[in-house]
Amino acid sequence: MKKIKIPGLEKEYIVGKIVCVGKNYLEHAKELGDSIPEKPVIFMKPPSSIIFSGQKIIYPDFTKSLHYETELVLLIGQTGKKIKKEKAFEYISAYGVGLDMTLRDWQSELKKFGHPWEISKCFDTSTVLGDFVPKEKGINPNNLEIKLWVNEELKQHDNTSNMIYSVEKIVEYLSFYFTLEEGDLIFTGTPQGVGEVKVEDKLIAEISGIGRLEAVVGS
Ligand code: MG
Repeated sequence: MKKIKIPGLEKEYIVGKIVCVGKNYLEHAKELGDSIPEKPVIFMKPPSSIIFSGQKIIYPDFTKSLHYETELVLLIGQTGKKIKKEKAFEYISAYGVGLDMTLRDWQSELKKFGHPWEISKCFDTSTVLGDFVPKEKGINPNNLEIKLWVNEELKQHDNTSNMIYSVEKIVEYLSFYFTLEEGDLIFTGTPQGVGEVKVEDKLIAEISGIGRLEAVVGS
């Protein structure tokens, strides 16, 4: 069981589902050599994969290709189903910085066979959570600069305005098919520039108006 406490929010949240959107930035879909999805691509990660900023990402011994994916994360603050996009913000309590660490070799292989790609996404330490801010801060999640450095070299730099599906549309789409519960996290997809990391690499992610995240890769 993983709990998150957001500075500025009284409540402590117990993380339920971690729902992720894949290929939500056009240029990232292109760099993977994939077609542009007609509907959002959805998968999940388990709460057991969560670590927090400052903790180590452990390089699994069953991969040769560990990738970073920097993403805007939504924290659901109110349980809801079939939420209309106009009401979506009522169900979000905070925005955060996250890394959706991915085993690209496993994912590519599983995709080839049309199999679920969970092994590439669910391993321990694959979900890194950084700063969060309450939505009351009044930021517009659909217009935030998002950046990632590996060993101080800028690798990802984009704006959430380039997401194919906006925050409201993602909440509407997901909640049409299943209930979103208080404490669920939604990873909204990564921009272009994904790449490999190796042991001892230092990752810093930043989203304007929200904050940062730091993690080192360990063995
Ligand atoms: Mg991702």
